[in-house]
Amino acid sequence: MSVLVYVEQAEGKFKKSVFEAVSYAKAIADQQSTNLMAISIGDVAESELKELGKYGAAKVLNVSTDQLKTFVNQAYASVIAAAAEKEGADIVVLSNSFSGKGLAPRIAVKLKAGLADGAVELPSNDGKFAVKKTAFSGKAFAITELTSANKVIALNPNAFGVKENATDAAIENFAADIKQSDLGTVIKDIVRATDKVSLPDAELVVSAGRGLKGPENWGMIEELANLLGAATACSKPVSDADWRPHSEHVGQTGIAISPNLYIAIGISGAIQHLAGVSSSKVIVVINKDPEAPFFKVADYGIVGDAFEVVPKLIEALKAH
Ligand code: FAD
Repeated sequence: MSVLVYVEQAEGKFKKSVFEAVSYAKAIADQQSTNLMAISIGDVAESELKELGKYGAAKVLNVSTDQLKTFVNQAYASVIAAAAEKEGADIVVLSNSFSGKGLAPRIAVKLKAGLADGAVELPSNDGKFAVKKTAFSGKAFAITELTSANKVIALNPNAFGVKENATDAAIENFAADIKQSDLGTVIKDIVRATDKVSLPDAELVVSAGRGLKGPENWGMIEELANLLGAATACSKPVSDADWRPHSEHVGQTGIAISPNLYIAIGISGAIQHLAGVSSSKVIVVINKDPEAPFFKVADYGIVGDAFEVVPKLIEALKAH
């Protein structure tokens, strides 16, 4: 019995959510009195892989092959499942990120494993392996008992803190047996259409809603986002009205995000919007209506007119 954590990389680097997943997987390994292994796929420098030792990974399987340079859902799932079988890992942990959401069910099918996606707490340590997870787009919690021998858990970002647990990680190359049938759709190259920060992976997000009145007023939102190095997002009616592209629409029917900081400007905080953003670590709300529902979930709130508050924020950031 052991625990395997998949460590998703972006351009050769691990994000904070990966260290959270490793810390979480290490806590499960400790519960089960077993070791933690990690698996990385893609081009990652040895020094970066060694970082995983800081959070308790005793062994890191490194899969570095041209065929898997870019993310291929089916092939990555096959490699992770094969590594779990070969190394005797019966618990697989990964981050419930944009790609994690696609991988987790595929890995679970391959391993005939029970799946808890959107986990927010450690499994119970009473032999039941009950995992608390979000349900109905974050509107409720469910407790899922994983009764199968193999188990897959996808951890929500920002649900479990990063915990240092220094171990010396041994790096091993893992030879992946990749089937042609797993490479049905392959991304040959990624060309950035813009220099803007991509929304699903962004650590900071500046988002605006119908309170902005019209598309001509997004200049200040873009400026604030640029100054912070943040991605821009919007509410559904804003993208429905073509004020902003649909790729920026967050919420139940849009992208679900979990940045470290979410700044919501002129957005009421309808439940369908919150479904996609409520797992952000820190939420700042700027709204002229003190009764706006968004304030109930805000860590910081500014009651004020966006057209006065945002320029002041920009001025203050420029002064630093
Ligand atoms: P409004 O509700 O019009 O709110 C505008 C806010 O701006 C108000 O709170 C107002 O006080 C404030 N404001 C106005 N002027 C200013 C100013 N000058 N300065 C500061 N504040 C100001 N919505 C989503 O966002 N994402 C989804 O994924 C989504 N999915 C949905 C799915 C379904 C099935 C349904 C039925 C609805 C869905 N919606 C979704 C729509 C959702 O219910 C809300 O209608 C929507 O989120 C409201 O957008 P808004 O907050 O931008 O606009």
